[in-house]
Amino acid sequence: MASLTLKGIGKRFGRVTALSGVDLHVKDGEFCVLLGPSGCGKSTLLNVIAGLESQDEGSVRLDGHSIDRLTPRDRDMAMVFQSYALYPHMTVAKNLGFGLRMRGVPKATIRKKVLTTAGLLGIDDLLNRKPRELSGGQRQRVAMGRALVRRPKLFLLDEPLSNLDARLRANVRLELKQLHKKIETTIVYVTHDQVEAMTLGERVVVMRDGQVRQTGRPETIYSFPVDTFVATFIGSPEMNLYKGVIFKERKRSVFQGRGFFLELGNPRIDRMEGEVEIGVRAEDVKIGKENSTSPSVEVEMISDVGSEKYIHARLGQEHLTLRVPKDASFRTGEIIYITIDSARLHIFEKGRRLVTTNVEEV
Ligand code: ATP
Repeated sequence: MASLTLKGIGKRFGRVTALSGVDLHVKDGEFCVLLGPSGCGKSTLLNVIAGLESQDEGSVRLDGHSIDRLTPRDRDMAMVFQSYALYPHMTVAKNLGFGLRMRGVPKATIRKKVLTTAGLLGIDDLLNRKPRELSGGQRQRVAMGRALVRRPKLFLLDEPLSNLDARLRANVRLELKQLHKKIETTIVYVTHDQVEAMTLGERVVVMRDGQVRQTGRPETIYSFPVDTFVATFIGSPEMNLYKGVIFKERKRSVFQGRGFFLELGNPRIDRMEGEVEIGVRAEDVKIGKENSTSPSVEVEMISDVGSEKYIHARLGQEHLTLRVPKDASFRTGEIIYITIDSARLHIFEKGRRLVTTNVEEV
């Protein structure tokens, strides 16, 4: 186990800036997830940590000591990639022990470590099988076992579950989380899947264009996104986001969007005026009774996901998605009145969050 500190990491490939000014601290034993869209620099950052790419700027520290001059082998980290190539002619046991054999570890120690790791991952009964005799999920577990077996200081995983089908992915995800509890190893995990990031990560690092946009606990990032990118990237369905202006009318704050008005009651909002973007998540829109201050929306489509329903509606000239219980019944074309708790509103100015209470924890 070790803590990892990145300070001002920058990396260019010719004209492409893959990473710029990346600062990050991962605590000893923490499960940290790097999350962002394709091309944002996640894999490059992981490679820099592992020493497979050298950064142009900044430093990588393990337990406070610079490891910039160490080769990947000497960094004592283990990496699992999306394309985990197991040796097809070797049994699971041989695959698990391969790295240790290469390092000249005595046979009896290898045997012990392989058995312990297989036990941890629940693959003890597969030790004599060849990779072709395993399911996708089992192969994935062997690949993780191969990395785990020598108990590295840091465990780096680059989209390790993306070859698995959705159901299996959800199961292996749970197993991985339980495994982390047991082994307490520091993990840096790369994914572009926000659900994966939110379910796995104790700390989530949202990246875009080679930069860190926000770092925090999943619930903090969900509830207090620092900008409109994070706000819309995290959460499904996507946050409803509207451009418009806030103005005062008889001492009350009102938001005017494209073709609709919203009353804003929150005192913090009262102090604001001017062009903003406001965001509201589907679960924070409630259905209310008709009154003079409730905006009305027209139901356009209903998607039933089994456990709940989503209503896709028209609000002025904008779209609004709201969540309703599974037994709620609505018709296309129906007019409904909505209310939004202003404490649940996200307000952004020039893309940055305005109401900044509680945005970051240490
Ligand atoms: P993905 O989720 O698609 O794997 P990523 O977030 O991991 O994406 P990186 O692979 O780190 O992104 O790439 C970051 C940027 O650097 C991209 O614009 C990519 O095209 C570029 N890049 C990465 N490796 C190289 C390379 N060896 N040579 C040139 N450009 C590269």
